[in-house]
Amino acid sequence: MSRYLEEIAHRCKRSAWNQSQYGILQYPGCTYPLISCRLGSQDKPAILITAGAHGNEVAGVYASLEFLEKFAQEYLRHFCFYVYPCLNPHGFDLGVRWNTADSETRQDANRSCVHGTTVPECAAFIEALRDGPIHYVMTFDLHETPENDAEIMAEQYQSRATTGYEETPRDFYFWETCKKQGSRIGNAIIERLTPDVSLCTWDEIFGDTNSGGVIYYPEGCKNPDYLEGPIDSYLHGRYSDHCFTAETYGGWSLQRRIDVHTLFVRRALDCYLPQ
Ligand SMILES: [Zn+2]
Repeated sequence: MSRYLEEIAHRCKRSAWNQSQYGILQYPGCTYPLISCRLGSQDKPAILITAGAHGNEVAGVYASLEFLEKFAQEYLRHFCFYVYPCLNPHGFDLGVRWNTADSETRQDANRSCVHGTTVPECAAFIEALRDGPIHYVMTFDLHETPENDAEIMAEQYQSRATTGYEETPRDFYFWETCKKQGSRIGNAIIERLTPDVSLCTWDEIFGDTNSGGVIYYPEGCKNPDYLEGPIDSYLHGRYSDHCFTAETYGGWSLQRRIDVHTLFVRRALDCYLPQ
């Protein structure tokens, strides 16, 4: 049975959100309808939330739906939410980072989000974006750093003959891509998350420059792997000038990871509200 169909697609269908099926993916044994949800009035500034690009990083998938169910209401006076809860349903069902488990053919949906991509998960998403708002005030892509991330990444990097990173953060951190330094809210978010959430304070995370839990792009980008291909790199400049990627630690309980993701999105939205 498909966990995606049972838990995610079904939960969306049951809801009162405005839903779209933006594509269909065919994998042996299962056909996946790709679903996005909108909540709010389309004349409000748009917010984009994406999750599940990496199938083994499940908390973001549940968090995106929990955000719509429990927290979006209090922001509907200000924003309209567009949510793609599970970009890679086959990976989600298999519990793997990639879109299949086959090491010969598997693809990484968060390294393939480029114009002209042949990765079906990314192609469908890119196509769907064209039918949505032309501008998002902010975008949030929800990820996780699994406990065995070093192993997973070593496997992925090996196939490309580059080096993985051995150290894996065990605290929350996020990327903020925003060219205008005066518009950045990374520090304000961190202040609002403290002390409820422990943040990674290393100087570097996967080679990138970390500033107390936030990696500011473009200048913090030192890892060439992140230049092109991640979802935030596709969105930035095309659909938004303010893009976030958030990372919970897979070693926490699932509910804790979900809570931290929803709290992060709420605290970021709060920064945009009149005080
Ligand atoms: Zn990820």
